[in-house]
Amino acid sequence: SASLAESDPEIFSAVELELGRQRKEIELIASENIVSRAVLEAQGTVLTNKYAEGYPGKRYYGGCQFVDIAENLAIERAKKLFGCGFANVQPNSGSQANQSVFLALLQPGDTFMGLDLAAGGHLTHGAPVNMSGKWFKPVSYGVNPETGRIDMAEVEKLAKAHKPKLIIAGGSAYARFWDFAKFREIADSIGAYLFVDMAHFAGLVAGGAHPSPFPHAHVVTSTTHKTLRGPRGGLVLTNDEEIAKKINSAIFPGLQGGPLMHVIAGKAVAFGEALRPEFKAYAKQVVDNAAALAETLLKGGLDLVTGGTDNHLMLVDLRPKKLTGKAAEIALGRAEITCNKNGVPFDPEKPWVTSGIRLGAPAATSRGFGVEEFHQVGAFIIEVLDGLARNGADGNAAVEAGVKAKVEALTNRFPIY
Ligand code: PLP
Repeated sequence: SASLAESDPEIFSAVELELGRQRKEIELIASENIVSRAVLEAQGTVLTNKYAEGYPGKRYYGGCQFVDIAENLAIERAKKLFGCGFANVQPNSGSQANQSVFLALLQPGDTFMGLDLAAGGHLTHGAPVNMSGKWFKPVSYGVNPETGRIDMAEVEKLAKAHKPKLIIAGGSAYARFWDFAKFREIADSIGAYLFVDMAHFAGLVAGGAHPSPFPHAHVVTSTTHKTLRGPRGGLVLTNDEEIAKKINSAIFPGLQGGPLMHVIAGKAVAFGEALRPEFKAYAKQVVDNAAALAETLLKGGLDLVTGGTDNHLMLVDLRPKKLTGKAAEIALGRAEITCNKNGVPFDPEKPWVTSGIRLGAPAATSRGFGVEEFHQVGAFIIEVLDGLARNGADGNAAVEAGVKAKVEALTNRFPIY
């Protein structure tokens, strides 16, 4: 049958335009990455045609013998990568992985704790607009106003006062390591489960550049597409056999029907890549690059929440330059540097304006940027933002065009695909 270009030129063109954008822009969105050709290829295979409700060896459909090979490889590689006894690789997204933990371990109306969205938590950790906040009773912990760090004394106080059944550690915009051992100690003191959502830093854990949530967590979820550099999707891990059984039932038939077998094949490929020594070097480079970017931004007069970073991301506080996240995101976008506006803790601006931007190193590191390039990227950001502060959005075109030319020269040196 006809190729995509022949049969649907409109979609083909959108894909080509997106490829062009990815090639020429510097991608600093902390939750994004650039997958290998092998991961892309796995997702474009005939495995998309197959229904495989159930689990390997126990399917509700015939003809699953070959997709079983792919899912078993994904499971075995995930267990090896994270050093645990059980993996469910079927969640279609990180959100569905998190939903499965709620369905497996809680009843509607139960109390749980998670990091406040405004302090860097994720929607699925109890935001009022999310199912986790509508059907359960979230108690949110925040960060210390002075240090920007999670205050374990506050976590302990809230846990003792509210007796949650489950405590979540993990978030989307937190630049520091998590004290998993202390979280577990607090959870044990009230008989709660410790659930670590490592969506953001899973690739760093896999590469040995971040402490592992095991053996502390009862259950761990992740996305597969952020630092882990696989296809879009989710993952659930545990060492507890009872929890494992409940998670399997919660994913299927609790939440999903047929798993996306082509995506599961892509997950297997990505986990295989992450088991290689090169991935260790990648994870270390991501952390070194984030540190280099942080250093340049601080020298350029910006503030960082918590003063720096331990991982792949940083939360930039733009208030020293009297700029908003919204204006900064748009100006940097014109210079072909892609990031997202992000509230800082105790942000006085509204969520669609914000006082901050979130920056991450995973994607640009995948295309080969090292510390030197990340210092340059930091200098580009300072140039655009200083121009914006000086000239205003309407007067900054010349500065942004100058930086855009430098960005394109840099991305041309590190081609993708
Ligand atoms: N958990 C955390 C900590 C995240 O940052 C995200 C994604 O941003 C998710 C879960 C949800 O992942 P998905 O977008 O695949 O539903």
